[in-house]
Amino acid sequence: MDLDKIRIEAESEIEGAHDRRALEEIRVKYLGKKGIITSALKGIGGLPKEDRPAAGERINAVKVAIEEKLNHKLKVLEEKELEEKLKQEYIDITVPGRRPGLGHLHPLTIVREEITEIFMGLGFSIAEGPEIEYDYYNFEALNIPRDHPARDIQDTFYINDNIVLRTHTSPVQVRTMEKQKPPIRVIVPGRVYRSDDIDATHSPVFHQVEGLVIDRGVTMGDLKGVLSLFARQLFGEDTKTKFRPHYFPFTEPSAEMDVTCMACKGRGCRVCKGTGWIEILGSGMVHPRVLSMSGIDPNEYSGFAFGMGLDRIAMLKYGIDDLRLFFENDIRFIKQF
Ligand SMILES: [Zn+2]
Repeated sequence: MDLDKIRIEAESEIEGAHDRRALEEIRVKYLGKKGIITSALKGIGGLPKEDRPAAGERINAVKVAIEEKLNHKLKVLEEKELEEKLKQEYIDITVPGRRPGLGHLHPLTIVREEITEIFMGLGFSIAEGPEIEYDYYNFEALNIPRDHPARDIQDTFYINDNIVLRTHTSPVQVRTMEKQKPPIRVIVPGRVYRSDDIDATHSPVFHQVEGLVIDRGVTMGDLKGVLSLFARQLFGEDTKTKFRPHYFPFTEPSAEMDVTCMACKGRGCRVCKGTGWIEILGSGMVHPRVLSMSGIDPNEYSGFAFGMGLDRIAMLKYGIDDLRLFFENDIRFIKQF
């Protein structure tokens, strides 16, 4: 048998072993009970007596060489395994932790806070009321009786004959007048409901800010002064205002207020349809019947009220052209404000 050939083959097999299992198979192949070297050693007995020592010596030398090679390779493989294990289990404690994402104020919240702060600076306080409201507060006490045509204008969600989802924040005015003696200066921010189909400018849920001032000797001049000041604070010092006669059942006289277009500064553009003006709120002197229904003597007191769409004002202020963006709550949109 060619011992040199066996040794060379064994060494090359050992060299090529990729893991400990493959190495063990090689060990068994050469040095196991029925291995090549083991068999060769057993075969010595069949040789002539004088040849046995030399043959034994040569076979043993190959056996030792293979054993050494196996042991060396085993160490290499063990080190490699350990290294891989450590690599897998490695924790880099210098990597910064993952921070939870921060939220952002909704643009409607930002504008609502801005508006309420302006009025609080003028001595107003904030009043709130229920979103599920009696028909009486939503309509009747605001001079909108059952057969009044204004009820057709507003498509109302009725819960039953007497209870509705409020269609405006105005019922809070009535509730405030019932509870509080004049002087009254409140603003009422809140969510309101009308059965509109959803499109770029309509939603069944939207937001209003309503205001009410009641005192002795309050005039239309006070209304114009307060609302013009508000417009300048919200849209900028150079904002001009214009009041156009209008009709609301709960105020008399009534007026809509226009402001100079914030997009073109009054020169005329697509936003203001070339007019230079944009309507932002409705207002008027509180109707004497509304005062007396709430237990306030219209001969002693007078007052004004106003209401605006918060969504519309936020859209104008930020140049947003689709109301639906406010309700999708996509953080990528909200974070722009
Ligand atoms: Zn314009």
